[in-house]
Amino acid sequence: MTADKEIVLSVRNLTKAYSAAGERIAVLRGVNLEIAAGERVALTGESGSGKSTLLHLVAGLDRADGGEIDVAGASVSQLNEAALAAMRRDRLGLVFQQFNLIPSLSVRDNLAFQSRIAGRHDAAWQNELAERLGLAAFLDRYPEQLSGGQQQRVAIGRALAVKPALLLADEPTGNLDEATADDVLSLTRDLVAQTGCGLLMVTHSTRLAATLDRHIHLSAGLIA
Ligand code: ADP
Ligand code: MG
Repeated sequence: MTADKEIVLSVRNLTKAYSAAGERIAVLRGVNLEIAAGERVALTGESGSGKSTLLHLVAGLDRADGGEIDVAGASVSQLNEAALAAMRRDRLGLVFQQFNLIPSLSVRDNLAFQSRIAGRHDAAWQNELAERLGLAAFLDRYPEQLSGGQQQRVAIGRALAVKPALLLADEPTGNLDEATADDVLSLTRDLVAQTGCGLLMVTHSTRLAATLDRHIHLSAGLIA
């Protein structure tokens, strides 16, 4: 960790349990994690180890039982729902395995969706993203007219258009074939570096994890 870089994600002693069939199951048992601006971190762990839970808590989509989460200076546990929504809109980019594009909007309008809502639309930056993501020729198409890899590139462009402090990606290449996954990931790596945001990416692939700056592993509710 470089000392002079802004910390865009700080997680301290994070705990979360779920109730299932009358039993409490501890999923996160005291997770600690820091990500600096520009740092790209891969998160692996067995299925059910709590990777998505961790991302949901960071995004404020679910509440932790204990611990602290700071996203670019915002203390997630102390925000009310409206402030959490604003935090997600203004500081976070979210990318999931399902591309979650809006079917009735063109590629251009999907790309602009979050940045327009956040009041931070920057046409020059969006054009550059479209160019870099190989989407410039497809701006008037609709999501159903794109391949899976192209759809995921739109989702990544939409997330980065807002110039987030932190990009959270939950198995973003899980629905793509290996060559397309490599392609999408290397573009994401480069664009994150250019944007200067932090990246926390869940992946099943230790091969892909090894291509990021740091690889962390979630096991028995802790990051080793
Ligand atoms: P991963 O993403 O690593 O596969 P998850 O974070 O999705 O794992 O889930 C971790 C554990 O928490 C699993 O045992 C899962 O069944 C449980 N879990 C996740 N979300 C809920 C929920 N909303 N209610 C009850 N249990 C849940
Ligand atoms: Mg998951």
